[in-house]
This record gives sequence, C-alpha cells and structure tokens, in this order.
Amino acid sequence: MEELLKIPSISILDEYAKDIGAAADWLIQKLTDMNLLLVKKISTERHPIVYAENLSAGQNKPTILFYGHYDVQVPDPLNAWESEPFVPTIRNNNLYARGASDNKGDISTFLAALESIKAVGELPINIKILLEGEEEIGSKSLRTFIPENQELLKADFCLNLDSGMSDYDLPSITYGLRGGIYVGLKLTGPAKSLHSGMFGGVIENPIHVLSRFIADMLDKNGLVTMPYFYDDVRIMSDEEKELSKLNPKDEAFFLKESGAPAIWGDKNFSPYERTVLRPTFDVLMVQGGERKSAITSTANALISFRLVPDQDPKKIYQQFEAYIQSKLPKTMTLEMNLLGADPAFIQDVDTPQIEIMKRTLHETWGVTPIIERSGGGIPVVCLLQRHLGMPTVLTGITLPDDNLHGPNEKIHIPTWKKGIESVIRFITLLGNA
Ligand SMILES: [Zn+2]
Repeated sequence: MEELLKIPSISILDEYAKDIGAAADWLIQKLTDMNLLLVKKISTERHPIVYAENLSAGQNKPTILFYGHYDVQVPDPLNAWESEPFVPTIRNNNLYARGASDNKGDISTFLAALESIKAVGELPINIKILLEGEEEIGSKSLRTFIPENQELLKADFCLNLDSGMSDYDLPSITYGLRGGIYVGLKLTGPAKSLHSGMFGGVIENPIHVLSRFIADMLDKNGLVTMPYFYDDVRIMSDEEKELSKLNPKDEAFFLKESGAPAIWGDKNFSPYERTVLRPTFDVLMVQGGERKSAITSTANALISFRLVPDQDPKKIYQQFEAYIQSKLPKTMTLEMNLLGADPAFIQDVDTPQIEIMKRTLHETWGVTPIIERSGGGIPVVCLLQRHLGMPTVLTGITLPDDNLHGPNEKIHIPTWKKGIESVIRFITLLGNA
C-alpha cells in the first residue's frame, strides 16, 4: 500500500493527470500479479476506471462487486502536515499519508484479504472489482459507465468500505447517505470596481447583498427559511428511532471531533439525527472584494445543500433559484449554476448480506456493530441502486479522527489489520452461506 500512497493521485488538478494514470497502472499491475482472471484499464473522458474479476467460484456461489476509489483530495494546507503527505510515515501505530484511509487504505484492506484467501486456497465466491479515479470530484465518468455496463457489473451486492467505524473498536454498518446539490452563485452590481468614496451610498455593494442572502437562509435555530424546503423530508420510522437512540455520536462526540466551543442546530433532533436525517444548508466559500477602498463589481458563493430521502435535488434547486430571484434587488444581476446533484440513499437493514456483515463485525471486534446513517454522500452507492437495483454493504475501518480530506490523514494500523481479518471472515462466511 505504501507504494500506492506515494503516488499523488489528486483528481481535481489537471497537472496530476499522469499521477492518476500511474496509480491506475499500479493497481492494474497489482491485480495482474494477484492472478485475477480478467484485469482491464478502461479509459474515460477523464480518469481511468480499473476493473477486474474472478468468477471461478461458479454460478451457485454469490458474486460481489467491490468498489473503491484511488484518487485523493489535495493535501492543502501543506504546512499543517507533520510529515510529507505523499511520503507514508508511521508514528504511534498510525500510518500517515494523503489517501491512507480515504480510500487507498480500504482498497488495500480488500486486496490484502483476497491475497490471504488465495494463499491458502481458491476464492469461495465470485469477485468483481471496480476502482475509479474520480470519486473526489463527483464520480462523473461512473454516471455513464454504470448504466452502460450493467451486464459487466452485475452482482448480488456491492461491498463498499468507504464508510467508517463509529469509534475505536466500535464497527458500524451504514444504511443511508445524504444526497445534495452544489450551487454556484454570482452577483454582479457595478460594471467595474468603484471608488467607495465617490460611489458609496449610491451604488449597492454586491458583497452586502450576498451576505444578506446567506444570513437570511437560516433562522437562529439553524432551520432553513426557504419555503417548502422540509415538505418532502421522510419521517423517521420507529425502527430508526430505536437505532438512533443507540448511536454513540452525542454532543460530547461532536465537540471532541470538531474542536468547536459549542454545538448548534435544531434542538428537536439529537446531534446525530441532525447530521444524517435532516437536510442542511451550508456556504462552502465566499469570494469578493479587494484590499482597497472600493465597491467591488461581483461577489460569488459556493453553496451546498445536504438532502435526505424523498427530497428531489432538482426540485430543491428550482425552489432555491426562485427564492433567491424573489429577493434580488434591482441593483444586481444574478447568475446561478447547478454544479452537482445527487439524491439521498437509503436501503433495507435486514438483508442476508447485512446479517452476514453484522456477524462478521461482531466476531472480529467482539461487540455488536452500530447500524447507522451517514451525513455524507458516496455517488456510486446511489448509481448502483438506481441503475442496477443493487444493494450495498457499506462499512469500513476509517476512525473519526483519521482526518479525511484534512492535513495528517492517517490509518490506524491495528484497526486496518482487523479490517483485513473482517473481510477474510466476511468472504468465507458468504462462501459457506
Ligand atoms: Zn473523500
């Protein structure tokens, strides 16, 4: 895995395209060395997909599709790293590197488990492996690849390790993900930057209007003020209420993991519920103005809504656009763009494969795993459900303090070893089922 971690496969920056290619080639070589029966690199409009399969277990054994992504986020801010992001370094039982947990660590967990099984015999089930290089930029190529390759990808279910543990020694299985939309918003006032002495008081400042829009989107309890926003939100079932009560992510957890002085939000829901079964509005970035005494011409914002089951992303975008248009003063023109849209994902928790995973995790860690929803999104999970009707077993070994997307990303080596053990156990149990 350290060889793969040394490759800076950053998907968002074009200057790293050859590193993305190198990471794909490294995986192709690795899968070939493992003697999988079919290994291929599939080019796309952007970054290649790596596919492999081994169907030698035969038709009366289950087939699983393992998913992983070999691309990573940018390592910025670089000076916050204690060791170089692409020089894997071990400190106190942790391996530090960008991608160590998200998601190269998960790929290596799965491949190491396969290698161990193959070292002592045949694979007891059929395996398909799908690895993409665009997860961190929205999985664009998979959006056409999955519907166009239904036969190739057909499997009983997908195993995805891109989720994580609830805490040290507390494994979890995720049955729901939030969806969301990304929106770019640009306000233009004057045609150029203006002297704030000569024009201040006559020409409205786009930064002020943008700030007003943003401030008006939430009330003091954190509820979105936009009309109809909560209309389609699915109500929690009694079963979910019970699962929610068992979830360990309480106020203390969020305080510890965030480093914020206090938590915030809708008091009608627990902190865990607020992050997984309630929709949210967040401003990701604002931009405008210069360090001089001038009224700027434009102000920009990048906005994200996290959405929950039964909310339609396109409908929410239309409502948002109409809402902002209705508040637009005559002094400004507005440009809005929908940059990404994914519905939320939710599936049954009592399928046979989830039962086997529960048993696997219980036998590996000696505790009952937490069954939960997650606040994030993983596009492939939705795509497989939508186009192939394929369920996903979503779990993983990422710990809450693994610093995904942040500086000093790490994987906890003892947890990683248990992860390998659990994948071996899961495949073995599936083969015997
Ligand atoms: Zn990620």
